[in-house]
Amino acid sequence: MAFPTETVYGLGASIALPEAVARIFTAKGRPPGHPLIVHGADASVLDRYAREVPPLARVLAARFWPGPLTLVLERSGAVPDVVTGGRETVGLRVPAQPLALAMLRDVGAGVAAPSANPFGRTSPTTARHVLADLGDRVDLVLDGGPCGVGLESTILDLTTSPPTVLRTGGLPVDVLEAAAGVALERVATGPARAPGMLAAHYAPRARVVIAEDHDAALAAAAGAGDRRVAILSGSPVAGRPAPIVPLVPDEPGAEGYARALYDLLRRADALGVDLVVAVPPPPGGLGDAIRDRLGRAAADQPG
Ligand code: AMP
Ligand code: MG
Repeated sequence: MAFPTETVYGLGASIALPEAVARIFTAKGRPPGHPLIVHGADASVLDRYAREVPPLARVLAARFWPGPLTLVLERSGAVPDVVTGGRETVGLRVPAQPLALAMLRDVGAGVAAPSANPFGRTSPTTARHVLADLGDRVDLVLDGGPCGVGLESTILDLTTSPPTVLRTGGLPVDVLEAAAGVALERVATGPARAPGMLAAHYAPRARVVIAEDHDAALAAAAGAGDRRVAILSGSPVAGRPAPIVPLVPDEPGAEGYARALYDLLRRADALGVDLVVAVPPPPGGLGDAIRDRLGRAAADQPG
């Protein structure tokens, strides 16, 4: 079953049904051994699914749940191997999405879910995206409208000291760090710890290159020869030659950019664009996670 969250749409199964969880990997084409986040209706998932709950986990859960923060803790005996890829840790999160919370209360157990897209590709932020990607492989898609945040959750590993940010995401790391009251470790690339951290991930079919400003974007677009080019940017690029497709979020700022990002990358593919020149928002806040995702999309260069 696919369901909306405030970050991206998830493909979920109750962790009480390990065979159903295993089918998530088949549907996504996701290599086995990659851990799935366990979603719950409230912070009781901490006591249910973590072996031990450090005080900081309670502080962060009280502050940011429901919300786009995943906490990695030692797992309890209630979490089967298929969910954690055999790891002794589990990622836990309470999503801020009314339909998801209602579903989670109904299921009454944790729901393991990665993003509802083929492994390595752009995450879905609408029910239509899920149907386009996995329509023949899911029996039900709950439609909660477009995702409010539009980027995956921020993942914080609380089993290390200091805690480690495994993935930037919908909760800005500076906000998280201020609440945690300790300096957080950051991993740039962690191939084994977090699948979302593979260098190449979140990629559309079009090639993606990054440009720091509009002038650099126009120069990169001009050098693309007769390939079909789009420029993705937070505001329209003045002086853009007509054949270049503009990809501009409807709403301003990094939040608008995050919300629209995956839909715009999919639009580029739908329009047959060969090259997306992306001008990311400045670093800081949500800008960091957007820059991370675009960097990974750019790292996925076919051939
Ligand atoms: P996805 O929704 O496809 O981005 O996949 C779920 C994300 O949760 C992956 O990036 C995983 O790395 C992360 N995750 C879940 N459980 C763990 C864990 N025990 N340790 C590290 N990362 C985890
Ligand atoms: Mg994913």
